[in-house]
Amino acid sequence: MTNLRLILGDQLSSSLSSLKDVTKDDVILMCELMEEATYVRHHPKKIAFIFSAMRHFAEELKAKGYWVRYITLDDPHNTGSLEKETRRVIRESRVKQVIVTEPSEYRLHKTFEFWRIDLGTPINILPDTRFLCTQEEFKRWAGHRRHLRMEYFYRDMRKKYGFLIEQDGEPTGGRWNFDKENRKSPPRGLSSPKRISHLKDHITRDVLSLVKKRFSHHFGNLEPFHYAVTRQQALIELAHFIRELLPYFGDYQDVMVVGEAYLYHSMISSYLNAGLLLPLEVCQIAEQAYRAGKAPLNAVEGFIRQILGWREYVRGIYWMHMPQYGEMNHFNAKEPFPDFYWTANTKMFCIAEAVKHTRDHAYSHHIQRLMVTGNFALLTGLDVKQVQEWYLAVYSDAYEWVEMPNTLGMALFGDGGIMGSKPYAASGKYIDKMSNFCEQCSYDPDKTTTINACPFNSLYWDFMARNQDKLKQNHRLSYVYSSWNRFSPQKQKAIREHATEIIKDMRDGKL
Ligand SMILES: Cc1cc2nc3c(=O)[nH]c(=O)nc-3n(C[C@H](O)[C@H](O)[C@H](O)COP(=O)(O)OP(=O)(O)OC[C@H]3O[C@@H](n4cnc5c(N)ncnc54)[C@H](O)[C@@H]3O)c2cc1C
Ligand code: SF4
Repeated sequence: MTNLRLILGDQLSSSLSSLKDVTKDDVILMCELMEEATYVRHHPKKIAFIFSAMRHFAEELKAKGYWVRYITLDDPHNTGSLEKETRRVIRESRVKQVIVTEPSEYRLHKTFEFWRIDLGTPINILPDTRFLCTQEEFKRWAGHRRHLRMEYFYRDMRKKYGFLIEQDGEPTGGRWNFDKENRKSPPRGLSSPKRISHLKDHITRDVLSLVKKRFSHHFGNLEPFHYAVTRQQALIELAHFIRELLPYFGDYQDVMVVGEAYLYHSMISSYLNAGLLLPLEVCQIAEQAYRAGKAPLNAVEGFIRQILGWREYVRGIYWMHMPQYGEMNHFNAKEPFPDFYWTANTKMFCIAEAVKHTRDHAYSHHIQRLMVTGNFALLTGLDVKQVQEWYLAVYSDAYEWVEMPNTLGMALFGDGGIMGSKPYAASGKYIDKMSNFCEQCSYDPDKTTTINACPFNSLYWDFMARNQDKLKQNHRLSYVYSSWNRFSPQKQKAIREHATEIIKDMRDGKL
């Protein structure tokens, strides 16, 4: 009798709990599944990254002498279903128990809970120890707090792990957060430093031709393909980031530049989320760079906050509130999703640029996701489910546990304020300040109701006016409503009529 150890596509870590006491008599099962590749139409680069990383991980396990049963997508016997593949191995290999690390998504959590009842073979679900905060710990932290603000969670995580904490227990530099220093506008001529592109071995080349054959109808360009697909390669990218880019990460964290998808961002989210890199080691390496005088505090603190703070926090929110979280829609946003999120065919330069980055790289950085595509979806009231489906499909780092709180909670305020203290709504002035997009746009960010006025401007005020009942009690928005109330009734009317025209243009494909 043997153990069947099931490894999912985002569990590619040799320190995984389900591999902890693996023996050479155990069967390790890994499958490329049509149901996983298509439950939303994932970007071809994302599918290629995951399949290639899975195949490489399987090879590493085999090289250590383990018995790996790897089912490729084009295996003629592949049933396309996780359950059927698991049952097949149970039937063929005298399995005494299935061992699995808890899945990252609620959908699979339900599947495994169901298996407990009807698989007919015991299933042992182990905690995912790669995260820095357990679900129970997060729930304890949330306790009776009225507001679950990331900043306070992050401070507790800093104390727990001792990151950037001095011997007297005070935060390094005397402050917990250096975000004020991280909001620079882009200087003229700012471009992305050269990034690492990895050589494609036969495994990656095979995967690329498979993905080209089976998924080229999905949104996004498969090639050029430059992703790391092994832990070794991901570590090389991380080292390059720490050495060359981290020193400027803070300064340029929020800026957006035409034709520059990455700027000084780390591009490690796909590797972290698939398990090629671990959050603890990434934070440790970043802190070492600061202690060695190789990166300034504002950059290192900002970077560690994203991983130790935001990443763990969104996971905590997700597991604390699922499955109800997925059904929330605070503003009852139901506007049909416009085509230009898929085609980039819009006169709004900022949206076209964000969509092109997404199409070409399966990546766009946080501010583009939040303040361009997310902001537009918030202001126009796009259907929250369709917006989430887009984010889940198009980014190579997207898994529901991290995509949903970011999209529904942070970008759309669809959870009514569980995550954020106010909606991240902004007019075109913000985009103009933080990017050079508006210089090339046919709309004018300084105008609100003229024919060439930036759509974000009237949409912003319209959003505030439309949702006044839900937002006016929010003290962080009192200055917004006092400005709105100072506008003459004629001006308010003109703004709202202009916004209605814009929404109509969007529906008619004319925006
Ligand atoms: C609408 C929306 C959807 C998003 N969907 C995803 C998603 O599906 N998957 C995903 O990993 N991130 C998501 N994010 C968060 C963030 O945009 C990405 O983690 C980041 O852009 C990845 O690029 P990077 O590795 O260069 O990050 P960097 O800017 O270099 O940041 C370093 C790391 O911090 C972590 N991080 C930063 N911000 C967040 C955050 N808000 N939530 C979780 N982790 C964070 C990531 O692991 C990231 O790799 C989303 C944000 C928004 C606004
Ligand atoms: S003018 Fe408005 S629509 Fe055009 S790029 Fe600037 S913010 Fe975007």
